[in-house]
Amino acid sequence: MNLELGIPLNDTITEAIVDRLIECDPSLADRSREDIPRTCTSNRMLAAVGSLTSMPLFLKIKDFVDRSLLEECDASLLNRGMFVPLSRDQNQIFLAVANPWDPTAEDTFSQQYPDLEVTKILAPVAEITSVIETIARTTGPSQSDIDAIEVDERGEEILDFNVTGKHEEPLAQLVAKICSDGIKQRASDIHIKCDKERVHYSYRIDGDMGEKYEIPMKLKDRVDAFLLNLMGLAPEERAKRPGISGRFTVNYLRRSIDMRFERHRTYRGYHVTMRILDKSHFEAKLGVGSLAFDAATLFELEKVMAIPAGIIVMSGPTGSGKSTTLNAMLRELNRPEDNILTLENPVEDEIQGVLHCDIRPSEFQAMIASFMRSDPDIILMGEVRDMDSAELAIEAAITGHKVLTTIHTPRASQIIERFEQIGIERWKIAQTLKAACAQRLIKIVCPYCKIKKPGLTEREVRKYNLGEEWRETPVFQKSPDGCGECGGRGYLGRTAILEIIPITPEWSDQLSKGTISPYELELAVREQGILPSLRKSGLQLVKEGRTDLEALRKAIDMSSTE
Ligand SMILES: [Zn+2]
Repeated sequence: MNLELGIPLNDTITEAIVDRLIECDPSLADRSREDIPRTCTSNRMLAAVGSLTSMPLFLKIKDFVDRSLLEECDASLLNRGMFVPLSRDQNQIFLAVANPWDPTAEDTFSQQYPDLEVTKILAPVAEITSVIETIARTTGPSQSDIDAIEVDERGEEILDFNVTGKHEEPLAQLVAKICSDGIKQRASDIHIKCDKERVHYSYRIDGDMGEKYEIPMKLKDRVDAFLLNLMGLAPEERAKRPGISGRFTVNYLRRSIDMRFERHRTYRGYHVTMRILDKSHFEAKLGVGSLAFDAATLFELEKVMAIPAGIIVMSGPTGSGKSTTLNAMLRELNRPEDNILTLENPVEDEIQGVLHCDIRPSEFQAMIASFMRSDPDIILMGEVRDMDSAELAIEAAITGHKVLTTIHTPRASQIIERFEQIGIERWKIAQTLKAACAQRLIKIVCPYCKIKKPGLTEREVRKYNLGEEWRETPVFQKSPDGCGECGGRGYLGRTAILEIIPITPEWSDQLSKGTISPYELELAVREQGILPSLRKSGLQLVKEGRTDLEALRKAIDMSSTE
């Protein structure tokens, strides 16, 4: 039975109110109990509540409210307890309440004025609400609103795993060391693998897998369970699921670092990959550090970014730093007047003011419509991998949005063909694509131990397809044993090289008509000689003594002379 008084009432109280209504008006006794609330006005029911609780009922209270007393109160607290203060003298404070059974009102005022007696009167919900409204402000939630939200903080404690502190438990100390050593060496990933007789971990640093360190076999399951626990997962989960994804954060010298966790079952146990998402590496800026492109490339990039609508695509293999560059571009484009949304899987680099969406490929189709309705100006889409994502990029560009995305192709000119393979007509991509870019990360030779050579041998000149002048060009190469600074690797850090093919309106027209192929366009851009190709930028790094030909050969195809 619902009395519709606007306050929560339990069954016992509801029955008591109905009893009181019948007592006051014996003619109601002839009716069924369910029928009684419908035959009584809400004021009559309130009168019954007042009589039941021995509280006087005031149908109008506005004129009795002491404004200064009211303004001392927190509107959201009054709203939650559905009460307002009316007046106060030396001995007592008068309150109007809508729900006599709610203790909030008394609790609040007996704390605030412990010496005053609290006297309550009853008033309708609508009347109390209209009084509260007069002091309610719309400047966001009050502190008491926020404090009232209960958060399970237990999860937070286990999340921030301190990897540079001392741990009593040896296992915690071991996992902390595995993590902190990886962060210290600027590894991108930590791998833990089980094979037949051993469990070992290793780091991927500057794109290469490094030395393997052994973990005693008896700790196989305990390390696994410890890591799952860091994410708040029970060890039983590993039996239920073939693959487990998650994340946790570690505290490294008071810096919080996100770790993305992937675990899959293997024949001998498991393979865990932990990606270290160290934000201090992310703050990459165009033109600085690892993104210090040459002046012509930077100028072109800025020109392309200024185009109001269209697609900018970054191509390259996995681990070529595509998203780092796109995120750096997004930072440049990030203005308060633009609504910037991202669709990523997963979100790696959070930028203040940008709305990041973590989206799985299976949800993509369902998300697109609502995503476009949320009125974005600039969209960063993690990757074009299928028809859904390709269509979204094209549609968004046609309707006037700027789209930044990546695609898996080795050469910039193959971007157009990749879109066609996915199922997009040539003219559509030709008219929306504004820049086709290709990027690689090139390892830098350690400046502390690199070895100087007066020139290349005949064999090397042929191997790398270089001109005869390289036989007399002094170059550097990595030291075979490295040094303490580079951890024996001979390389220290990486830098990006970028090739841009700008699609001007003229090129776009010719591509649509099919009078030029994407590869011919790539060659035409090279012929102009303004924008360097990947190979040219790479060779420039060699001339500057920053990398060696071996590192270059691993990142780009040296078989062509272009
Ligand atoms: Zn070195």
